[in-house]
Amino acid sequence: MGLLKCGLRGCTTTAERKKGKYVYYRCTGFKGACGNVYILQEKLAALLREVIKPVQITPDVAADIATAIRQSDGDAAARHAAALQQVENVEELSSARLTVGRSQSDLPSQMKASGV
Ligand SMILES: [Zn+2]
Repeated sequence: MGLLKCGLRGCTTTAERKKGKYVYYRCTGFKGACGNVYILQEKLAALLREVIKPVQITPDVAADIATAIRQSDGDAAARHAAALQQVENVEELSSARLTVGRSQSDLPSQMKASGV
């Protein structure tokens, strides 16, 4: 724990359940009473959502991370083969692009502008 600190003196915060259902977070006052107030869990969650919104990752990046994690779980030989396959795919792709790039010089200028 200890991820959440009071903004006034930097004390840790603690969670308390009130009336059996409402969860509040409050400053422990370890460094002296700061006068900070309780905050309802739902309200805190909403504030934290706003904080983490800008650091959300795109689905593409999430997929890349998932792939990397899966690969790190697999055995070394399988990882090596997968990495090798990726390199080969990139090599094939770039040689294909080079071919497209060269043949474009034969195209009329209007078609070149389409940016393949
Ligand atoms: Zn405090």
